[in-house]
Amino acid sequence: MVRAVVGANWGDEGKGKITDMLGQESDIIVRFQGGANAGHTIVNDYGKFALHTLPSGVFYSHTTSIIGNGVALNIPLLFKEIKSITDRNVPMPKILVSDRAQMVMPYHILFDEYEEERLAGKSFGSTKSGIAPFYSDKYAKIGFQVSELFDEEALKEKIERVIVQKNVLLENLYHKPLLKADDIFNTLMEYKEMVAPYVCDVSAYLYEAIKEGKNILLEGQLGSLKDPDHGIYPMVTSSSTLAAYGAIGAGIPPYEIKQIITVCKAYSSAVGAGEFVSEIFGDEADELRRRGGDGGEFGATTGRPRRMGWFDCVASKYGCRIQGTTDVAFTVLDVLGYLDEIPVCVGYDIDGEVTTDFPTTSKLKKAKPVYETLPGWKTDIRGIKKYEDLPENCRKYIEFVEEHIGFPITMISNGPGRNDIIYRNAK
Ligand code: GDP
Repeated sequence: MVRAVVGANWGDEGKGKITDMLGQESDIIVRFQGGANAGHTIVNDYGKFALHTLPSGVFYSHTTSIIGNGVALNIPLLFKEIKSITDRNVPMPKILVSDRAQMVMPYHILFDEYEEERLAGKSFGSTKSGIAPFYSDKYAKIGFQVSELFDEEALKEKIERVIVQKNVLLENLYHKPLLKADDIFNTLMEYKEMVAPYVCDVSAYLYEAIKEGKNILLEGQLGSLKDPDHGIYPMVTSSSTLAAYGAIGAGIPPYEIKQIITVCKAYSSAVGAGEFVSEIFGDEADELRRRGGDGGEFGATTGRPRRMGWFDCVASKYGCRIQGTTDVAFTVLDVLGYLDEIPVCVGYDIDGEVTTDFPTTSKLKKAKPVYETLPGWKTDIRGIKKYEDLPENCRKYIEFVEEHIGFPITMISNGPGRNDIIYRNAK
């Protein structure tokens, strides 16, 4: 069976923890989109890890971890990340890399930096991992697939061709040093050396695995609102964050994805610029940020303080719908235990009209949050294993959210660890 774990919001919902947890019963875990620009934080018996490229299954010896064709593959970072976990006594994971995955080139990272510099105050808040230049090249058909590393003559010729265009931009737009074909070729040969043992026809591998009845988990990065089509364009990421794209980014039939677990955090957070209707500021935000996640809401990749907000039913209802949610995993609920009262955004006021439908970006810019305030539960709920044992106000909060988003909350995460989870039969 194939399942997907994806995010409902701006990312950082706790997908890493849910994937790590479901990894226990999975044979294969596949990353299908995105690159090393975002990260998952995972806490397990080996310690606390921030993963950027590796699927969250790498901590289990029984799982195969796959980098699908949809990923922006940064080869040196992948191997640095593997070393960072094996250095901390995690056994070498079984890894496969799609021969159709394209590679982040060193110049993608440079172009990302130069463009942010050029846009200065109007920048997108990129993590400068080269992701936007990478996907631009992929769709402009001047990207490099892993498979191309194995045909050196064709590779040389293509590098020459591609850098002509890059050098025009470097010289005239950015006024930066030009690229040399030999340097790029030599770098790619180093990448080839590193990646060769892991290269695989992933879609064929998964086709067989599905036939054999293996449990496959597709692991999404970021969340619905960062999707380039359905998110808060243009403050989005450059590859689709939706479960549907899992079929493409892994190379499997769409109808094989039987369960779509959408991760929703019990409050909101976002990194980078872009619309965020239920955002809060000042001391209220600082306190939630400090208490949030596991050791504060700071970016797993950048260390940047995350923007904070109350739970947004409008964004989450939409975020869950667009994912095709079968199950909601409601995470980081324990963090809210300090609050006397908890505001929840239940509608958007746009030019005097209240809606619960998430609009396109131009309307979203005008949206003001409409809040309802729920009573807090004022206790630490970590360690609780059964839904009935949660305080009444905590259950009311969950059920209120469930009713407003319209998708069943079947898992509640009440701590960062693998076992901090409460399963529930939704109404
Ligand atoms: P991802 O990118 O969606 O995986 O999100 P992050 O890696 O940013 O995860 C959010 C943070 O919350 C991480 O530090 C997790 O360890 C932590 N976390 C996940 N679930 C819970 C939870 O239920 N309670 C608490 N306190 N922390 C959690």
